Amino acid sequence: TITIDHLVSWLEAFRGKVADQASYLTELDSAIGDADHGTNMARGMTAVMGKLSDKPEAVDAYGKTVGMTLVSSVGGTSGPLYGTFFLRLGAAAGAVAELEAGEFAAALRAGFEGLLARGKAEPGDKTMVDAMGPALDALDAALADGADLAHAAASARDAAAAGRDATEPLVARKGRASYLGERSAGHIDPGAASTAMLFEALAEVLE
Ligand code: ADP
Ligand code: MG
Ligand code: MG
Repeated sequence: TITIDHLVSWLEAFRGKVADQASYLTELDSAIGDADHGTNMARGMTAVMGKLSDKPEAVDAYGKTVGMTLVSSVGGTSGPLYGTFFLRLGAAAGAVAELEAGEFAAALRAGFEGLLARGKAEPGDKTMVDAMGPALDALDAALADGADLAHAAASARDAAAAGRDATEPLVARKGRASYLGERSAGHIDPGAASTAMLFEALAEVLE
């Protein structure tokens, strides 16, 4: 079972990772973007944790707080995309204080569908979608195989990391990196790297 405490701890762990590795994320973004992804994510997640100090009572309220704060404080394309992910995750889960593994997986999937609808990226466009899609597929597959949530989250973490690494040779077709055309190849996508951290954080909290 996933509780609100787990969901808050997840984002505290994520905040720690994007803050500790902000210069790495920004370095990736300096190669194919505008060198702000690390600062964008660290600022956004610090704002989120400030808002979550007032602990939400239900998953929908959590999703709304997290999503709206990311939309308003990240200040890059990634803000509305991560924001939509959490808004939809919360809306799909509803006014409940905890989720069973399958319900959590379904809420994550709903968040991802929202992100896809908002950003219109497809797999292989060299975006955060290339880390999140494989992560959620791995999570669903592990749960369908009877794995517990800790093992399923570890599979998702590994798939997100592989998806992140697989963005390196790709030519970007969405976002600022797409302005570079063929020159965007040979660099890991910064958003895919932050998404891999989101799943590292989840696996840590659920292990
Ligand atoms: P900005 O590009 O506005 O400076 P960030 O640097 O914070 O915003 O985020 C860039 C990341 O956003 C990219 O590395 C990519 O993963 C992601 N991204 C950009 N456009 C899209 C999109 N349409 N769909 C999904 N992800 C996207
Ligand atoms: Mg940027
Ligand atoms: Mg920017």
